[in-house]
Amino acid sequence: MEIQFLHGVGPKRAALLKAELGLETVGDLLRFYPFRYIDRGVIHKIGSLEPGMADVQILATVIKTEVQGGGAGKGGKRLYVRVADNTGELDLVFFKGLGWMAEKLTPGSTFLFFGKPSVFNGRLNIVHPEIDSPPPPGEAGNASISGVYSSTEKIKNAGITGRTIQKLVAEALSLALPTMEETLPDYVIREKGLVPLQYALRNIHFPTDNSALSKAVYRLKFEELFLLQLSLLKQKFVRSRAANGIVMPKVGEPFNRCYDFLPFTLTKAQKRVIREIREDLMSGSQMNRLLQGDVGSGKTMVAVLTMLIAVGNGYQACLMAPTEVLAQQHFANISKYLEPTGVRVELLTGSTGTAARRAIHAGLEDGSLSILVGTHALIEDTVSFKALGLAIIDEQHRFGVDQRARLWAKNPGGPPPHVLVMTATPIPRTLAMTLYGDLDVSVIDEMPPGRKPIKTILAGENKRMALYNFMKKQIAAGRQVFVVYPLIFESEKMDYQNLERGYEEIVSYFPLPQYKVAIVHGKQTNEEKNFNMAAFVAGRANILVSTTVIEVGVDVPNASVMVIESAERFGLSQLHQLRGRVGRGSDESFCILMKGQKVSNESKKRLELMCSTEDGFVLAEEDMKMRGPGDLEGTAQSGLPVTLNIASIAKDSLILSDARAYASSVLERDPALESPLNAPLVAELRREKYSIRDYSKIS
Ligand code: ADP
Ligand code: MG
Repeated sequence: MEIQFLHGVGPKRAALLKAELGLETVGDLLRFYPFRYIDRGVIHKIGSLEPGMADVQILATVIKTEVQGGGAGKGGKRLYVRVADNTGELDLVFFKGLGWMAEKLTPGSTFLFFGKPSVFNGRLNIVHPEIDSPPPPGEAGNASISGVYSSTEKIKNAGITGRTIQKLVAEALSLALPTMEETLPDYVIREKGLVPLQYALRNIHFPTDNSALSKAVYRLKFEELFLLQLSLLKQKFVRSRAANGIVMPKVGEPFNRCYDFLPFTLTKAQKRVIREIREDLMSGSQMNRLLQGDVGSGKTMVAVLTMLIAVGNGYQACLMAPTEVLAQQHFANISKYLEPTGVRVELLTGSTGTAARRAIHAGLEDGSLSILVGTHALIEDTVSFKALGLAIIDEQHRFGVDQRARLWAKNPGGPPPHVLVMTATPIPRTLAMTLYGDLDVSVIDEMPPGRKPIKTILAGENKRMALYNFMKKQIAAGRQVFVVYPLIFESEKMDYQNLERGYEEIVSYFPLPQYKVAIVHGKQTNEEKNFNMAAFVAGRANILVSTTVIEVGVDVPNASVMVIESAERFGLSQLHQLRGRVGRGSDESFCILMKGQKVSNESKKRLELMCSTEDGFVLAEEDMKMRGPGDLEGTAQSGLPVTLNIASIAKDSLILSDARAYASSVLERDPALESPLNAPLVAELRREKYSIRDYSKIS
């Protein structure tokens, strides 16, 4: 049933509710949950308010209203409303909707105001409080929790208040709730100790008390996360039952040769991950595994050994890196490890010459070339393998979906190659579960022994000369220095100006011929970028000034200082990535976070956390808590597969893990959800919200 048939909603309001809040049907309205609750039982006295208190409710009478500002140089117009109760006075401040606020809040009238008290110019005030009519006499003090719904300016201007929405929801509940079907099977409700849907919906809107509210919230969050995980895991179950994976039963001779000649022993974490991969390769199903490990944790080693398993079983393997420089670096490292094995490896990038390219193509086709390392050049149509058994993708988030899909098709006629995606971006576990859908996740959570900690220092503009002197000392000792500028928005002129100004300043403090400074940024052509980057990698430049383009895995063991300008503008995960560019050699390394002039306390705390830990997962968790999952490095591009209505991946990680484990157990009992008991789940998963892209087809 559509909303417009509810009392007080005509076509006009219905259209507005749809356009502004996406509410079309009565069902939508029931699932439009309050984002906050007011405890109507507690009315604070103005005299007892203090700045820094959480949201409070006061019952107060308007004394006077006054519009200020709006003149030249005085900032925007503001409406001040002085209100009082019998214990004191305070100001309400409005920056928007001044007109109708002034009309509504006439002197002498009394309202309930709800908001967070703060202090401005020495006076207590509340900015943009919510306003409600006072409770009818006699009812004040009755404990009752009432929901606050999100709204928009247009909706408020159309006279649809929080109260109006509450009335609509109440009507929707009485009309639709009795016939509303349970979305979860009985056994799920029983096993997980959940409240029924009807109870949950009634109490999420009109809680009888706090305990009923928290049961309702829990049930609805669980339902949402459970269905999400069920839809993700279902794809995985379907795939793992469809035995379409290349079976690689043995470890093979090349693996053993390489292993015997390793200059170090593998860390426990590396061994565990290789075991996990081995199981996938023997299982008869296609591997789709995400390998997470901090910069320097030894992912490349794992990649090499995995490729050698493929080769030992008579298949070819390829490794795709996002940039030419990285592909070259991988090639150099991998060649070294492969020496004792006699396995042939080649490098294919955009700049590979025609003759070499032809030889590579021929070797791939006749099978004499076992391992190919390259950039996206290796997924071009002209490249075809004799028997591609494994594709490894490094720094996953740099690749688009289409590029990955093409890798998938590189074993024509045979089963799809096994896929291992490697990323150095630590992603909180709960986010990885959701973001990478049905990929299995392996984590290298241990660093090779002997790595020196990177000293991280937070400094202000007043330390700039000291910084330059420090850089000079490091350069004199033969070290190299990164200087990174934020370029959050590629198009922002300001950012380029900062970068260019910074570059000029550095060049003037570090003049030729004694110093060489290279610069790399997004506006250069690929040739320019590669040329400058290569100069730094080869040690021909002492300082590399750049935007964040270098964050992708460049390995310069000789670089010992990372300077990050306007560090407060980066996310923690990104700072962590950047910091990981140093500390790769045997020298003591430094990361200097230069903070801008105006830095909020919160930003300062984040930067201090950077100084106190090198654990990428801790930083990623913190980042996700503060900025939400959508903002995490690497996630913006791929995006969350669904929009969550009530649960939060950042805040409900316990429910999420539980929901995932439970979804998995449901599928173990009934992999295709064929049992009549699970019919409600099948119906729910058909809803558009849960029709999620199948990541196994694209990665
Ligand atoms: P990642 O790709 O995860 O950033 P790499 O594979 O490039 O890390 O490894 C970083 C460095 O550590 C390399 O120089 C590598 O040779 C070395 N390394 C890898 N595994 C080990 C290990 N188990 N013990 C000691 N050094 C290791
Ligand atoms: Mg790497």
